[in-house]
Parts: sequence; C-alpha cells; structure tokens
Amino acid sequence: MSTLSAAQMSARRESVVAALSSPDLASIVDLVVWVEADRDDPSSGPVAVAASHVGRVRLHLDGRHEVCEGLDPIANEDAMAFLPYERECASPGPRTSRENAYPYAASRILSLFADPTRSPDVAVVHTPRHFFPEQGGHVGEHGSLDVIQSRAPLLLSGRGVAARGIVDEHARLVDVCPTLATLAGVSGSDLQDAEGDLLDGRALTAYLGDEQVAKPKVIGILWDGAHCGDLLHMAESGELPGIARLIDHGVALRGGAVAHFPSVTLTNHTSILTGVGPGRHGVLGNVFYDRGTAQPVVANDSATWHRSAQWLRPAVRTVFEMVNGCFPPGGSPRTACVNEAVDRGADYSTMAIIRDSGIPSGAAGLGDRLPDAANSIHLHNSANRDDSYYSWGTQVDDLGLEQMRQLWPSLESAPTLTWWASVVSDAGHHAGGPRSDIARDSLRDCDSRLMSFLEHLDGLGITDQVTFLLTADHGFEASDPTVTGSWRPALESLNIPFRDEGPGFIYLL
Ligand SMILES: [Zn+2]
Repeated sequence: MSTLSAAQMSARRESVVAALSSPDLASIVDLVVWVEADRDDPSSGPVAVAASHVGRVRLHLDGRHEVCEGLDPIANEDAMAFLPYERECASPGPRTSRENAYPYAASRILSLFADPTRSPDVAVVHTPRHFFPEQGGHVGEHGSLDVIQSRAPLLLSGRGVAARGIVDEHARLVDVCPTLATLAGVSGSDLQDAEGDLLDGRALTAYLGDEQVAKPKVIGILWDGAHCGDLLHMAESGELPGIARLIDHGVALRGGAVAHFPSVTLTNHTSILTGVGPGRHGVLGNVFYDRGTAQPVVANDSATWHRSAQWLRPAVRTVFEMVNGCFPPGGSPRTACVNEAVDRGADYSTMAIIRDSGIPSGAAGLGDRLPDAANSIHLHNSANRDDSYYSWGTQVDDLGLEQMRQLWPSLESAPTLTWWASVVSDAGHHAGGPRSDIARDSLRDCDSRLMSFLEHLDGLGITDQVTFLLTADHGFEASDPTVTGSWRPALESLNIPFRDEGPGFIYLL
C-alpha cells in the first residue's frame, strides 16, 4: 500500500498524465483517464477526467463537460455514432479522438475507478490504430472507450418479444442480466445485488410483448467479439440465416449494446451476467493488479477461466443465482452455462466440469478431450485452422453445440435459463479485424452452429416456445501495422515507481 500523501500522489499522477499526453505519443495514446475529487463539491463523489495532447476535460455524471485545458478530447458521446453501418465502412478509421465518439464516458470511467484495491491510478486508452503485438496486441483489437470497440450486437427474439425488425436504438451490456432474469420470471423487486442495491442495468421491457409467458424458457447467446455492424449487415445480405431468422421473429438494435470500459472480454462477460459495472463486480480487466493482495491477476486466460468466480466482489449476484432463487432445486437444471467463465450458481456449467476434472490448466489443458477441428462441419474455411486460436475455438464451439443439444432433449426438461457462449468469433476478428475474410468466416461458423441448434429445436417442435437474446462482449477495430511503439520508456524516464498491466492500467507504487 502507498504511504504517499494525497498531494504527493496527485503530483505523481500529473507527471504521468503529462508524459502520456505528450504529442510525441499521440499516435499510440488516444486518451488518459482517471478520477479526482469534484472541485465544485468535494463532498460529492469523484468526477471522471480525460486528457490527450489536445486538451483536458472533467466529465460529470449529469452530462456536463468541463473543459479545463485546450480542446475537449471527448467531444462526442453519441452511442449511435457512425451509423448507419455504411458510415462506419466509409471511414473505418483508425480515427482521432476528436473524430471519435465515447458513449457514457463519465459513468464508464467512474466505474473502472470505483474498486477499493484493484482500480489503477490512471488508465491509458490505446488509439484504434495502435499495433502492439510484442505486448499481446492483434491486427483486430478492442478495449477502448470508443464507440465501435464498445458496440456489441443485441437481438431479442422469439416467445414474448415484439417482432419489430432492426430499430435505430441502443442499450448497454449491463442491461442483459436484468433482461434475461425478467424473461426467466424474476420479479422486478428481485433485480438487485446481494446487498439489496439496484443493478446498474435495467430490463429491456420496451421490446417485450404484453403476453405474460408461463413456464419461460430463455436462451442467452454470446458470440465473443462479434462486430455489431457487420453482423447485421451480413444477416441482411442473407449470409447469416440464423441471425436473420432471429431478427424476423424479434428485434435487433442497430446501435447494439454499449460495453463497459475497458471493452475487454472478462470485464464485460461479468457485466453482462451480473448487471453491474467493473467498479462493483471487481473484474476490472483481463489483467489487473490487486493492491489488497499485492498480486497481479490474470483473469482472462483459458488456464484460469474456470476459477473466475474467485474474483467477484461479495455483493455480486450472477443471473444464474437470481433465476435459481425463483425455483426450488429439482431433477433438471434450472440454469445452464455453456463455455462461459462467469458461471457461479449455474446448475449446469462447462467450467464446473473442468473444475471437477482436476485439470490444473483448466480449459487450456482440455486438448485431446475436444472434438477434432478438422472434422468440424461448421468450419467454412479449413485454412482458418492454421490460426491456432481459431482452431481451438472451433473445437470448443463444436463441444458447446453438443452441450446445448444435450441440455435441450425436450421443452420440459430444458433449463429455464440457458447461456451459450462461443469464442471463435473473437479469434476471427483478432486475426483479421472487422470485415476481413477470417472475421466473416467466424461469424458464418457461429451462425452455422446456431442454425444447427435451431433445427434441433424445430425437430422437437418447440422453437416458438423459446425466447432468445443474442449479444457479444465488445466490438472490434482494425489496427494499423505501421503504428507501433510503447509509452513505457516515457513513463520510465519519470523515475516514478509504477506497474503497467494490460498494458494500459497504470498503478503508482
Ligand atoms: Zn471478447
């Protein structure tokens, strides 16, 4: 723990911010964000601050932008920016912060900095063009506060959903948990955490019909990293018949659902399945540092996914715990969680099977227990097996579909809430960036598995008895292979002790 005074800490942070927002680093540093006391009203909570080489702004929760220096680096918070999709395609970036949009900037930054021991002192937002393979970066990347990397698709379909097609609206990923819980029969007064506090998200009841669904059967589907605009575009062009079928019987939001910041996988899987932001659930990033234990935490790793519940803060309740609270335990699982790390409470869970198997390396060690990707009937382009992540994702997703079929032998014995996560879409988008051949192949592969499962339900004659929600955990943008480098030397030159996790979470020691 730090023994510095608040004034010393603030001075060190200012040095770090000044170094990171130097024009020399403008090609790789989009924004530097942190929180500080509200000068107007120090007794109220902190305010979010964002700086770049163009200026500095204090962001208040009431929407005020208090420009402190130069220009406002967060000039636009429009969650519907770069829509319709043709606008994104016409200027796919990489773009500067003054051309970009950062929806819900204040509340998302404040949430990241609300954890008592895990929040960084400063967070760095990479520019969309930054390519940093030597530190784990990819051709396609996500994690930013910006609108495209934060935009996940959101579709609702089937029983109890009003058929409206594609609408020019958006939601937030924290709305998914209360929406799934409501669809599964949890009453509004039970949409709260373990300490009785309201969730950050709200149930998307505006898209539901008037019909009160008896004995609900709800399936939540997550295609990791599926790009919202391209998913809807491909569905409209006839390339994703499963998605098109869901839209025909429901609604898709053109603006998708806004992820929490950082727009990374495990932070948002956790927000999706708990209805609260990282400052409440505690999974601040894929990698973060905990001052309480003086340990770095690598949360998003196939070797640690099965242990993800250990990072949840005590007040958190998962959607599985909320739904199970409405039903007595019985012979069939009430809730099921397929290929998902955030599984706590689910009666059936892939990760529980991995925990029980005793494989110390978790899903990473499944190896030959998984089906052979070479035999996958859902792999549209066999050349994609050359990408090891794509190949592993194909194996995992084929096993996921198999679990789904087994969990759904009949309507009566199917879980009330089934959650089904797929990973190959993340592999495809990381490998090539949005709209690349491999990214689109990954969406086709996911759609093929979805169609296969819908045909399974059709065979049972029960498809119209099921409500579906489909989403992702973040969006994607393509980096620019010529824009490389690291801010680390600039920080090291300050002679201030620090850790940089991610990279992008700066902890002053
Ligand atoms: Zn992801």
